Amino acid sequence: MSRIVYVNGRYLPYAQAGVHVEDRGFQFADGVYEVCEVRDGSLVDEKPHMARLERSLAELAIPAPMSMAALAHVMRETIRRNQVRNGLLYLQVTRGAGPRDFTFPTSEVERTVVCIARPLAPEPLEAQATQGISVKSLPDIRWGRSDIKTVMLLPACLAKNAAREEGADEAWFIDNEGFVTEGASSNAWIVLDGETVITRQIAPAILAGVTRATLIEGLAREGISLVEQPFKLVEAQSAREAFITSATNTVMPVVRIDGRAVGDGRPGPIARQLRSKFHQFAAISVG
Ligand code: PLP
Repeated sequence: MSRIVYVNGRYLPYAQAGVHVEDRGFQFADGVYEVCEVRDGSLVDEKPHMARLERSLAELAIPAPMSMAALAHVMRETIRRNQVRNGLLYLQVTRGAGPRDFTFPTSEVERTVVCIARPLAPEPLEAQATQGISVKSLPDIRWGRSDIKTVMLLPACLAKNAAREEGADEAWFIDNEGFVTEGASSNAWIVLDGETVITRQIAPAILAGVTRATLIEGLAREGISLVEQPFKLVEAQSAREAFITSATNTVMPVVRIDGRAVGDGRPGPIARQLRSKFHQFAAISVG
């Protein structure tokens, strides 16, 4: 089956889909995106993903390209045409195309909308979760508005590649005061003795992860205490457990940080419990 991509009102074969050479996403990273998990053909936590997209657009004064209901239709149709059962849905909106100019174009310029659905086999992710992942710490060199989900992902790419070169799976960004901000493409969590879960509070320094918000509801349901505050790298290395969250990973145990084992070097019970129950906490879209 050939892959189909939605681009600006059309569903096109993957190889033929493209955007304008002077798209502002390409020239200025002037665009935002969302990634949703697709599970059994349905979108997971669709509403909060759409709410975050609306917020990202508003923060950058990019007019919405269409109603959120119309975008939701495009997302479903892209999943359907690609027959994705388990995988991810990627949606990107840029300010549009026009002769290269730093100042924004007039509002008549059409926004660029791209939607891609991709299958992801669950088995390799499950195998990874059974082993746990390793992370490498790096200085957080990103801009001051990491709460907006922009396509300006070069610092994250550099960090992930540096991690990969050392055999690590994810990078954790460290702020000027030595606190962990978040992962390159995930939120960061630790579990201290007494089973208190800690994650950094929402602020411009981090992305308000949809998975993070869902898990916070799940923690309450499970009766697990949560503290939202920054933690240092050394605290994470001496924590009982550590894990990351993101739409495609859900809850992924972290077993090594900068080469040092976390806890006994194996996925901890809280991370395993939260991973196994995650989809009971999340909202699965129907229709
Ligand atoms: N933080 C960053 C920097 C991310 O890029 C992501 C996801 O891509 C997350 C956190 C997790 O967000 P979500 O749970 O909505 O996928």
